[in-house]
Amino acid sequence: GAKDDAILVVDGMRRVFGGLTAVDVDHLEVSRGKITALIGPNGAGKSTLFNLITGFDRPDSGTTVFDGRTLGRTRTHKIARLGLVRSFQLTRALSRLTVLENMLLAGQDQRGENILLGLLTFPWQAQEAELTERADALLQRFKLDHMRDQRAGTLSGGQRKLLDMARALMSDPKLVCLDEPMAGVNPALTQSLLGHVQALRDEGKTVIFVEHDIDVVMEISDWVVVMASGRVVAEGTPQTISRDHRVIEAYLGE
Ligand code: ADP
Ligand code: MG
Repeated sequence: GAKDDAILVVDGMRRVFGGLTAVDVDHLEVSRGKITALIGPNGAGKSTLFNLITGFDRPDSGTTVFDGRTLGRTRTHKIARLGLVRSFQLTRALSRLTVLENMLLAGQDQRGENILLGLLTFPWQAQEAELTERADALLQRFKLDHMRDQRAGTLSGGQRKLLDMARALMSDPKLVCLDEPMAGVNPALTQSLLGHVQALRDEGKTVIFVEHDIDVVMEISDWVVVMASGRVVAEGTPQTISRDHRVIEAYLGE
């Protein structure tokens, strides 16, 4: 059924790679201002779905309506400007740049400007001040300010996760898709990252996050969507979903 206030509505979303149907989602709604967990075994299509809704990949069919607007073939940077972004893990190339440069690039990128040109030319100066201010505020919030001028490659695994999240927030999104924001970090940092996700909700943002640890999902999610073989096989509150046989099958079938 339709949710009272869905910020995102996906219909008939299909993506085929060769002979493999990676995503085949009939209908999905994400409630505004809530934390939705997207769970399911490896290869279920979670990351591909994130790519499709944020414009990094094109569906073979289907529509995305974000905040009342049909995205159609809207480009990634424009989607970001509308307030819908996804996180990315630090790449090797980005690890050679400083933490601050990573933040600035994330901000630039979302504006759809040529990254290299942006770094090399004059208009950079005016917007740099504004972007730098925003970057510094976020670095402080994520306790990375002391690493500001270090190469991102020198960050610990946990600090990289914090940077991934901070970068996604450079455009002040309404909806942020976090792909495994806590994967591979120690329990203490998991709690800290969970706190950051909850803080996003507290300030009115909508979060969708992919997570494998069911305890983490139970702790902070308002709603859980279960994917398997590209499809949404179940959804519900954490309490009901934890008892759903389709969820257990989806994981045992991995
Ligand atoms: P998840 O994030 O749930 O682990 P993915 O969305 O990464 O799953 O992948 C879903 C399926 O699509 C997998 O079988 C994967 O191998 C395949 N896939 C994803 N991206 C591509 C691609 N660019 N080319 C070919 N196959 C892909
Ligand atoms: Mg994935």
